[in-house]
Amino acid sequence: MTLTRPPRLGALVGPVKIDDVSKTYGDGRSAIIALDHLSLEIADREFVCLLGASGCGKSTLLNLLAGIYRIDHGAVDTGGRRIGMVFQEPALFPWLTVGDNIDLAMRLRGVPSRVRPSEVAELLRLVHLEGFGQRRPHELSGGMQQRAALARALAQHADLLLMDEPFGALDAMTRDRLHDELERIWLGSDLTIVFVTHNVREAVRLGDRVVLLSSRPGRVVAEFSADIARPRRIDSEPVARLAAEITDRLREEVRRHGR
Ligand code: ADP
Ligand code: MG
Repeated sequence: MTLTRPPRLGALVGPVKIDDVSKTYGDGRSAIIALDHLSLEIADREFVCLLGASGCGKSTLLNLLAGIYRIDHGAVDTGGRRIGMVFQEPALFPWLTVGDNIDLAMRLRGVPSRVRPSEVAELLRLVHLEGFGQRRPHELSGGMQQRAALARALAQHADLLLMDEPFGALDAMTRDRLHDELERIWLGSDLTIVFVTHNVREAVRLGDRVVLLSSRPGRVVAEFSADIARPRRIDSEPVARLAAEITDRLREEVRRHGR
C-alpha cells in the first residue's frame, strides 16, 4: 500500500526561501565562514533533509531560518509560517509533567484554558504517549522524550518544523519507530519539514529531497530527489540504492577537500 498525502487543509502558502545567505562567526583571522552564499527553496509541505558532515553549517542554517541568529548577508523568507523546533536534546522543562510541557506551549500561544486539556490529550495520542501526560520527562525513555518534544513543537501550531538531528542520540530501533511516526504525522498535516542529519540512510528514509551541504564554507553541493513510495522502510532496496549513490557523492566531496 502506498500512502498519498491528502490535499492541503489550510490556505496556500508560498515556498520557504533561503536566498544567498552567508554567515560568519567571529572576525579577523579567527573568523569562521559557516555559510557561504547558500540558496535553497523549499516547497510548501515539502519534507527536505539537509545532509552534511559535522561542522558544515546545518545547525547555523536552521537557526537562521528560525530567526534566532542574525544573517550577515542575504535573506530568508519563511512565508509567515509558525516555526517549531526539535533538537537532539529534547529540551523539555524537567520540573513540569509531559502534559504541562505541551500545555505551556499552547498557553504561550494564547489558547484558552477550557480547550487546552483536550488538545493536550489529542497531541499525546498523536505521538503515541497517551497515559504518560502526568509523568515527568526523566521518567521517560529517550525516544519517548523526543515524542514529547515533537508534541510540544506541534502544540505551537507550527507549520514549519525545523528538526536538528532529533533522533541522533537514539538507538536504531527507537529511531526506526520515530521515523514511521514522523512520516505519518507529516502525511496527515500541512507541515513543511526541514530535517537536519548526518545519517545518509535516515535522510533518504524521510525526505522528498536530500540536500547535500559541503563543509567550510557551507554550500549546497548536490541535491537528490527521493522519489520512493511511502511509507518507506530504512532497509528497503530503493532507500539503500539512493543512500549508496549519495554516500559515493559524499566520499567524492571529502576527497576533494583532502580529508
Ligand atoms: P553543523 O550543525 O553542521 O555541525 P554548525 O552550524 O553547528 O554545523 O557550525 C558550522 C561552523 O560554525 C563550525 O565550524 C562551527 O565550529 C562554527 N560555529 C557554530 N556556532 C558557532 C558560534 N556560536 N561561534 C563560533 N563558531 C561557531
Ligand atoms: Mg549541528
